[in-house]
Amino acid sequence: MPIERVTTAVIGAGHAGLAVSCMLSERSIEHVVLERGEVANSWRRERWESLRLLTPNSQSRLPGFRYQGDDPEGFMTMSEVVEFVGGFAAAIDAPVRTHTEVTNVRSADDGYRIATSQGELQCRSLVIASGACNVPSVPVLREAVPSSIASVTAFDYRNPRSLPEGGVLVVGASATGVQLADELRRSGRRVLLSVGEHVRLPRTYRGRDVLWWMEAAGIWNQRYDEIDDVERARQLPSPQLVGSPQRTTLDLNALAAAGVEIVGRLAAVRDARALFSGGLRNQFALADLKMNRLLESFDEWALGASDLAVGPPERFEPTRAPEAPRLHLDLKSGEISSIVWATGFKPDYRWLDVPVLDRKGRLQHDGGVVAAPRLYAMGLPVLRRRKSTFIHGAEDDARDLVEHLARAL
Ligand SMILES: Cc1cc2nc3c(=O)[nH]c(=O)nc-3n(C[C@H](O)[C@H](O)[C@H](O)COP(=O)(O)OP(=O)(O)OC[C@H]3O[C@@H](n4cnc5c(N)ncnc54)[C@H](O)[C@@H]3O)c2cc1C
Repeated sequence: MPIERVTTAVIGAGHAGLAVSCMLSERSIEHVVLERGEVANSWRRERWESLRLLTPNSQSRLPGFRYQGDDPEGFMTMSEVVEFVGGFAAAIDAPVRTHTEVTNVRSADDGYRIATSQGELQCRSLVIASGACNVPSVPVLREAVPSSIASVTAFDYRNPRSLPEGGVLVVGASATGVQLADELRRSGRRVLLSVGEHVRLPRTYRGRDVLWWMEAAGIWNQRYDEIDDVERARQLPSPQLVGSPQRTTLDLNALAAAGVEIVGRLAAVRDARALFSGGLRNQFALADLKMNRLLESFDEWALGASDLAVGPPERFEPTRAPEAPRLHLDLKSGEISSIVWATGFKPDYRWLDVPVLDRKGRLQHDGGVVAAPRLYAMGLPVLRRRKSTFIHGAEDDARDLVEHLARAL
């Protein structure tokens, strides 16, 4: 059988891969989009039930396609996101091959040979849009947790009933951790939340959504080559935000008031005891300082913007540190029955057989241009701009990268 040849292959039919497909079609570049599941697979299969986008509907925008409903300030549920991304794929008539898992990619014949669950392909150029959050990133100290404790990642968690009855330790206080701690507490559980470095944000500021400010003040548009320490920016945890119809601020003060016990960073698990670091006050001070600096930059921008309908500047109460945060938890005492690891996600490139990963397994690229001929990445944090990994961030990146790709072809 002669091998199938295509000009360009895109791996992944999430919003990033589809945005690339749209730009390739605009330039009449022949291509296929290879997807192991269905369009918007990650939103269908890998998220918990109550999750809503934390970006408002007005920021659900893809090339030539945007949220059309009557609630621009609302937040989509998972089924609405699946419908939205699916609607985009249909509108652009994307050449998606579903249920086609890429199992190996290697350099061959002045391009790439792609092995899939449906056979082999040869392409001249390749765009990796397989997602930034394919697998949970869990610290190795998980292995020291006694087997009597259920150890669950945000990938396995669906709702509070996913966990055995009893108390829960949630490790990590980014968007995932604070949302799951809140949901578990509301279900009546005793909840401890282990907090390390985190990004605090209010849901609304001066009467507008905080992410409206991020966009309006130009912060989300900052380019990767204008950011002082882009590697650090790429590692930042997601902000403590939830997209709820009530527009609630879900910071540590709110969680503590709801009865969640805040403890320090999980430093070790030894002799069936979880040991927490004592640096909570410093962590809180740093997060408060960074939030206030961001709010100041919003205020500064607002001074120069004419006809802006916003309220007066606000400042928020500092994060309250517990009087005497506990430093250890006996995992055999029965106080908790499960640990939820909300410690982040990472991409999975086990199928990638081209030498473009660094020692830590991260894809090496310059603004999405990978160090191999006509090989590109999409959808990674701060890929070309601060907004790169978000739905509304895909359009500009896809346009830039497809322009580069077209020239390279
Ligand atoms: C919990 C969570 C909440 C988020 N909330 C928001 C939010 O509120 N707003 C926002 O804008 N962004 C949000 N994001 C970030 C971002 O939008 C998502 O991560 C988004 O799914 C990224 O889109 P993508 O197209 O890059 O990747 P994905 O949507 O993950 O798409 C990648 C696709 O590639 C496929 N794939 C992977 N490997 C292979 C393979 N080997 N072969 C074939 N196909 C493969 C996958 O099945 C998947 O369909 C959130 C992310 C997470 C994890």
